[in-house]
Amino acid sequence: MTEHAVVIAGGGPTGLMLAGELALAGVDVAIVERRASQELVGSRAGGLHARTLEILDQRGIADRFLAEGQVAQTAGFAQIRLDISDFPTRHPYGLGLWQNHIERILAGWVDELAVPIHRSREVTGFAQDDTGVSVELSDGSSLRAQYLVGCDGGRSTIRKVAGIEFPGWDATTSSLIAEVEMAEEPELGIHRTPLGVHAFGKEEYEIRDGKVVFGSGGLVRVMVPEPHVGASREPTLRDLSEALVAACGTDYGVHSPRWISRFTDMARQAATYRKGRVLLAGDAAHVHSPVGGQGLNTGVQDAVNLGWKLAQVVERTSPESLLDTYHAERHPVAARVLRNSMAQVALLRPDDRTDALRETMTELLGMDEPRRRFAAMMSGLDIHYDLGEGHPLLGRRMPDLDLATADGPLRVFTLLHDARPVLLDFGAHGGLDVTPWSDRVRSVDAEYAGTWELPAIGAVAAPTAVLIRPDGYVAWVGDGTDLGLDDALTTWFGPPAAA
Ligand SMILES: Cc1cc2nc3c(=O)[nH]c(=O)nc-3n(C[C@H](O)[C@H](O)[C@H](O)COP(=O)(O)OP(=O)(O)OC[C@H]3O[C@@H](n4cnc5c(N)ncnc54)[C@H](O)[C@@H]3O)c2cc1C
Repeated sequence: MTEHAVVIAGGGPTGLMLAGELALAGVDVAIVERRASQELVGSRAGGLHARTLEILDQRGIADRFLAEGQVAQTAGFAQIRLDISDFPTRHPYGLGLWQNHIERILAGWVDELAVPIHRSREVTGFAQDDTGVSVELSDGSSLRAQYLVGCDGGRSTIRKVAGIEFPGWDATTSSLIAEVEMAEEPELGIHRTPLGVHAFGKEEYEIRDGKVVFGSGGLVRVMVPEPHVGASREPTLRDLSEALVAACGTDYGVHSPRWISRFTDMARQAATYRKGRVLLAGDAAHVHSPVGGQGLNTGVQDAVNLGWKLAQVVERTSPESLLDTYHAERHPVAARVLRNSMAQVALLRPDDRTDALRETMTELLGMDEPRRRFAAMMSGLDIHYDLGEGHPLLGRRMPDLDLATADGPLRVFTLLHDARPVLLDFGAHGGLDVTPWSDRVRSVDAEYAGTWELPAIGAVAAPTAVLIRPDGYVAWVGDGTDLGLDDALTTWFGPPAAA
């Protein structure tokens, strides 16, 4: 039986990101993926929000995505645009990039990190004991791991076999999406009718002056509401044609579909993200309507929260209890995504009263403070892990400041490329002693003369030091003393090495 420290079921965006994080930390990790290649049928996610771009920037790979996508103001609430161009981040925008490209670029990175991917195989079951997990594969073989992570999507086998509840709300809306040929070209763009929202577009597009300009020729991408919710079989061309006729009065001579798929607004979340040696991340842990474009982003950020913690537990520098902070921090984040996506679905209902409510919300979100709050939520820039009372930076994302160091100018995110913790000391040089953790924590003396500003919060007092976790969140803030530093180092990076 082949052994790995960690086996990841599912090599979608979440599984790939987690594999990269674990490999960076030197952990022996392997992915088991049902698909024969990274090719993706269907369009799914349309891009990345600002915080995900920052996360990728923390690993030095954001440019790979930026080079292929369309930078634009993509944050929105129930299709009400929210401009983040004034936000204090190096990426005050979103990136339009289809999921197949996102996955291809992530898979390229994971390949460079030499993570083995067992393709064309499914995880069919597992059994965990005190020392590890035996993972059964569909080809009859099995793997042994210390930990198994289910990144296997909304219908997660791992979640089901683990017996983890998936409570939530059944679907109230259902839509078909497809890529097709049409005898007549429909009017491209988003349309609202009494039946709901439908849209036509093309795979190729550019964003010019904030407007989407579709490529000419090629297949048409369709999204159209279905008249009934709860279909139990795969959608057909006939279903698509009927839905188009109901919404538009014509099916535009639809034919030759490349693919047809369905999504709903079902909203469910795993009751626990961990059961012993089995963890869940991404769609396996939470599903909801795609409105607002948060699913893939949340999954990738789950992976970045879990990766370094799992690595430290596997390496035995931290106790297993560190893994419980993964659920404690990430469950509330996805619970909020479920809540806001349900609110958005409600605001998109096609009736006059909801239209009036949407107009009211549009007015409200046109005001500066509500706009900043909602935009920070939708872009993921306001995420705040509850690490107790203290400076506003505590538990929030570390800004990517331009530092002056003994080695010259340096961006904070550059210090995070290798996914290791960093102590930035802005005070009296050499004042903070992390010697007992020097095998794990990098200490950098730095100067920063600018203001400290957080999205949606504004200016905050300049700290004298910050302890930054590998995921880019602040674990401790100094105010001129080292009060609490040893505790924070022990909590997050394990007990001090014996002298
Ligand atoms: C129409 C639509 C539009 C969307 N738009 C957006 C958007 O704009 N922004 C956004 O952030 N999100 C969006 N999403 C959501 C996004 O697609 C998902 O949240 C994202 O794909 C989740 O990634 P994942 O890796 O967790 O799961 P998946 O992408 O579902 O990956 C799971 C992987 O596991 C594999 N697998 C499954 N079972 C097994 C098994 N037993 N063994 C081995 N492998 C297995 C699958 O083949 C797959 O590769 C959209 C979704 C839809 C449907």
